[in-house]
Amino acid sequence: MAPMVRTRPNILVTGTPGTGKTSLCHELSERSGFRHINVGELIHERHLYSERDEAFECLILDEDKVLDEMEEILEQGGQIIDFHSCDFFPERYFDLVIVLQTSNTILYDRLMARNYNEKKLQENIQCEIMQVVLQEAMESYPTEIVQALNNETVDCMEQNLQRILQWITLYSQQATT
Ligand code: ADP
Ligand code: MN
Repeated sequence: MAPMVRTRPNILVTGTPGTGKTSLCHELSERSGFRHINVGELIHERHLYSERDEAFECLILDEDKVLDEMEEILEQGGQIIDFHSCDFFPERYFDLVIVLQTSNTILYDRLMARNYNEKKLQENIQCEIMQVVLQEAMESYPTEIVQALNNETVDCMEQNLQRILQWITLYSQQATT
């Protein structure tokens, strides 16, 4: 299938739970006017899951249903997609893939504050240490569109936002010339 042609880019913001995706996406949406889609919430709202994993206290998503739901939205461009996993989205969906990262001590505190159970907490800390999501992104998308960004502090987030906004401006200039 030919790549999508769009005047406004689609941006995937991914990373281990707790790395700050939703906070960053919310602010990016405010400043860019792009739409923030929290895929986790979408899955809940539209029941795009097949079963519940009791040990991890989470739902097992139905990838086909999620893709069906997102295809039309993404064709419009100008979407910010917020999800902790990225390997099942087709490559052509995104123009930029951001992988947020935080040190495990900071991540631990953030997840503790969320009352994650011990199993889920350890699983996520391991995931961050092993850079599972970055690896997944590198394997699923052209490396030149994948960017890992440190998101440990409020200052980091501000820098990240500036960077992404600059990138959006450049993309828009190129798309209209
Ligand atoms: P995610 O969507 O990746 O799970 P959230 O955006 O919900 O992460 O953030 C998890 C927690 O970390 C929240 O309490 C949020 O306020 C905090 N947080 C997120 N980004 C930062 C940051 N850059 N600096 C400090 N705290 C942050
Ligand atoms: Mn989130």
